[in-house]
Amino acid sequence: MKKEIVFATNNLHKLDEVLPLLAEKYTVLSLNDIGCTEEIPETADTLEGNALLKAQYIYTSYGKNCFADDTGLEVEALDNAPGVYSARYAGEEKSAEANMHKLLQELNGKTNRNARFRTAIALIIDGENYIFEGEVTGKIIENKRGTKGFGYDPLFIPTGYNQTFAEIALSEKNKISHRAKAVQKLITFLENYKK
Ligand code: IMP
Repeated sequence: MKKEIVFATNNLHKLDEVLPLLAEKYTVLSLNDIGCTEEIPETADTLEGNALLKAQYIYTSYGKNCFADDTGLEVEALDNAPGVYSARYAGEEKSAEANMHKLLQELNGKTNRNARFRTAIALIIDGENYIFEGEVTGKIIENKRGTKGFGYDPLFIPTGYNQTFAEIALSEKNKISHRAKAVQKLITFLENYKK
């Protein structure tokens, strides 16, 4: 029988990315599927901490195996900001436009444009915790380019490319991204997991 596992998200893009890869061995449930409508606390000050908080919340409140992710953009010249605060860098409205505007202001005049996206996935299965990480390095450019993707994509050129994440085809981004790498590690682990 397939094992049930909750992906602590209602983000359809993330669910679409992960569900088919696990479907053979696992029934993957969203927060919606388990009737979780409350706001899950994300009060830790690291990506790993937040991912673990979310997974722990579901494991304790709903008694179900669970994984959760958290992602941030870490910019070298800004001491790794916005990091864990990437979604609300410019305020609680979580506006991508406002966030990019603030990032460009903070980087104004700085020559070091090195940055990376980092994803942490926390998994709690049969009471044990595991963390999987993925990252992609690159540079922050001075003017937005491209219309694909989301978040900070128009400002980020991954290492080895000339185009921003918002100009690269989504299928290509999904092969090299921080999230793709962390998800791949999670999937390899779950495919081989026996209990
Ligand atoms: P989350 O943890 O996946 O919700 O990501 C937190 C924030 O990081 C998002 O609101 C975006 O601002 C940013 N972010 C995460 N992944 C990406 C990405 O692939 N491209 C651009 N921005 C991203």
